[in-house]
Amino acid sequence: MARGESVTVSGGNLNEGSRVVVVGAGHAGVELAAALRQRGFAGAVTLIGDDPALPYQRPPLSKDYLKHPGAPAPVLRAEAFYRDQRLDLRTGARVAGIDRAARRVTLRDGGQLDYDHLVLATGARNLRPPVPGLDTPHLLELRTLADAGRMAALLPRLDRLAVIGAGFVGLEAAALFADLGRQVDVVDLAPRVMSRAVSPEVSAWFQGFHAGRGVRLHLSDRVAGIETAGSGVRLALGSGARIEADAVLLAAGVTANEDLARAAGLAVADGVLVDALLRTSDPAISAIGDCARFPHPAGGGTLRLESVQNAVDQARALASRLTGAPAPYAALPWFWSTQGEARLQIAGLAPPPGPGQLSVLRGGQGDGRLSVFVYEGDRLRAVETVNRPADHMLARKLLGLGCPVTPAQAGDDTFDLKALAMT
Ligand code: FAD
Repeated sequence: MARGESVTVSGGNLNEGSRVVVVGAGHAGVELAAALRQRGFAGAVTLIGDDPALPYQRPPLSKDYLKHPGAPAPVLRAEAFYRDQRLDLRTGARVAGIDRAARRVTLRDGGQLDYDHLVLATGARNLRPPVPGLDTPHLLELRTLADAGRMAALLPRLDRLAVIGAGFVGLEAAALFADLGRQVDVVDLAPRVMSRAVSPEVSAWFQGFHAGRGVRLHLSDRVAGIETAGSGVRLALGSGARIEADAVLLAAGVTANEDLARAAGLAVADGVLVDALLRTSDPAISAIGDCARFPHPAGGGTLRLESVQNAVDQARALASRLTGAPAPYAALPWFWSTQGEARLQIAGLAPPPGPGQLSVLRGGQGDGRLSVFVYEGDRLRAVETVNRPADHMLARKLLGLGCPVTPAQAGDDTFDLKALAMT
């Protein structure tokens, strides 16, 4: 955007005098601020985050960072970046309310900020299931840098860990503790691990993987209560089983931080509702990242994703729109999770298991590597790989190009997918 040039966006003209206020300084908010500057936006950008730390990456918190208490925080950008880019970063500050008529936000400390465009990048917070005793001081969480710091500091004394939730975060931590030779129990309501995110084939592979490392999986079960026992806790499961542990990690999924939007009268439904251009029901306000529920690019409904890719790509798409190059958000979703030496990568979006869904295995499975091509009818929807990064990269290409790969081709490990992607 040339200096002084003004571009029209719904709800306002962004020019070098415009003020953009971003609520939430996580992956989405920081990337948006950076992308606005990259695209030449010279106006004021204020980034407000309630976390007191310099904005950081979350993925390492349940992985390597835990093993190294006192390691430098995995910051998203060095402090100098915000200064050099003239980004007004306010950490430890919380937006308490939005006055849409006045286009003004109020901070918890009473301060006020006017905006021409407001961006909600408020992320998500941990779900807290209604379990009696969950308020135990032995409860650990892994959402913030402070959470991870606390867990890392306790790690030498945690011989027995109980984990509520067999999703990515719970299993990453479980693998890490099992690696250290600790006792680990993981409890989940679902009959298989990562059930909302991966195919039954990949769940089965990871169940074998974790069980082989000594992790005790309690699936189709629930934590009915937690009580103090000695210096630790005792978990009572619905099945009648009991687990003794030094601490409990809560990893039962997240819920979108949509309260601010709801209180301001914006449309919300398990996330802040946005259109394909990431506009909320007020065109002067956009939402991106974990908190945003957007139209499914393949049509039919909406979705909300919790991934770095989605946060970053939505931030870039929004920066493009605000600087005059609007395009519907349709980036290919991809994701990774590292559990011990197993690196899971997912490209695309698998439909929920059911009639019409077909999973095709590619490659040997006995060698600690696996690829699953997931079809809906004859259409390839997603590819899940374990320790097969080349397949993942190819899958992103093939899915991105809409290249037809037949189930027979996918299942034949000698079939050259790379050549197909080049055609
Ligand atoms: P967030 O990063 O949650 O940032 C939003 C920020 O806004 C938060 O700091 C929040 O406190 C703040 N905020 C909310 N309301 C207000 C308010 N009113 N005022 C001021 N600030 C506010 N994804 C992957 O793709 N791969 C992984 O391996 C992976 N591992 C993960 C491991 C862990 C432990 C966690 C917690 C997440 C992981 N994720 C992973 C998910 C990924 O980190 C999220 O999808 C990503 O952080 C979303 O970015 P965001 O900016 O939308 O939200």
